[in-house]
Amino acid sequence: MSHCFYPLVNVVKNYPWGSRSALNARFHIPNPDDQPQAELWMGVHPAGISQVVCEDGTCSLTELIATDKQAMLGSKIAGQFGELPYLLKILAAESALSIQVHPQKAQAQAGFQRQQQNPDNPPDYNDDNHKPELVYALTPFMAMNGFRNPADIVGNFTPLNIPSLSDALTQLAVSPCAETLQAFFLLVMQLPQDEKQQALKRLIDNARDWYDDNLATFILRLHQYYPDDIGLFAPLFLNCLTLQPGEAMFLSPGTLHAYVHGVAVEVMASSDNVLRAGLTPKKINLKELMACTVFEPVYAAQLRMRPISEAGKHHYPIPVEDFCFDVYSDVKDVAIQTTSAEIVLVIDGQALLHHPCGETATLKEGQSVFIPAVTGDWTLSITGTLCRVYG
Ligand SMILES: [Zn+2]
Repeated sequence: MSHCFYPLVNVVKNYPWGSRSALNARFHIPNPDDQPQAELWMGVHPAGISQVVCEDGTCSLTELIATDKQAMLGSKIAGQFGELPYLLKILAAESALSIQVHPQKAQAQAGFQRQQQNPDNPPDYNDDNHKPELVYALTPFMAMNGFRNPADIVGNFTPLNIPSLSDALTQLAVSPCAETLQAFFLLVMQLPQDEKQQALKRLIDNARDWYDDNLATFILRLHQYYPDDIGLFAPLFLNCLTLQPGEAMFLSPGTLHAYVHGVAVEVMASSDNVLRAGLTPKKINLKELMACTVFEPVYAAQLRMRPISEAGKHHYPIPVEDFCFDVYSDVKDVAIQTTSAEIVLVIDGQALLHHPCGETATLKEGQSVFIPAVTGDWTLSITGTLCRVYG
């Protein structure tokens, strides 16, 4: 007997960069042991599968979907992906996450396959999928996203006067292009230890004098948590922005990025493939990183997504097929048609979901439901804000 709405019981990920208070204060997620609660996962990724509440207690969302993939996923997702293609998270960053890039699908497939043939090598790939991601800020959310334009990079590095970068910096200034940017980035990542340390000291000592407030704030905040890390140079070559609550950005595979501070909803293809470039104690695989990074500037004006808005609803156009993302605020009895596997998450306030068969679900902030494709038409009322992820 299939339901219309399945309340989800989700996995909390305790990573060192997580906030000890944000998920508890905002979403009532218990934290009795004062852990750094970094992420809440909603989906079927093997590293953190949601449970669903059904008549006989609970089962995993994976098991529920497997009972009838057509009915649960809808024919489009069942045919194209064969499983839930996205992962929804709430993310609460106290300190920065690593600077990272996610591979294109073909790179992930090739890398994952290579790795399975050489199981003794340390793994770079956890699965064979790409990981485009959307971030929707719930608090002011500091992040780095994509390369700055080359003239800004040259301007930011010039006062540091780092001898082994000077030729590459001149090249980047004279002929700004993917090749000169790539060559410059590689040299930064390979800076000799003593030169790196001297340059980091000059950077920290002079950040407030040399740079604008925003850039200096990013550098000094990162320095608090990662004092000797090569990633402290990242704000000099990546765009630094603070999303305001309700603003969103999209990260294409190949875009170098880092989340620095704040609480956000994140939606991504169901993947955990991350190649790191700093702000991490983990090993950096420079060769894979270089191969997966797109060395093109991302223009600051293009960083924030422009939702398509109508009464009470914002639709964020996503340039991939793995998921769609809508946000509803303060609406009453809005008709929604579900034709694919959906997850609805209340961001704040209280929501009532109502199906013509009589089934209802009442959700408050931090609570989520899985809605099978067969649920079809239902109505939504929300006092506050919720997000809806679907295929
Ligand atoms: Zn990422």
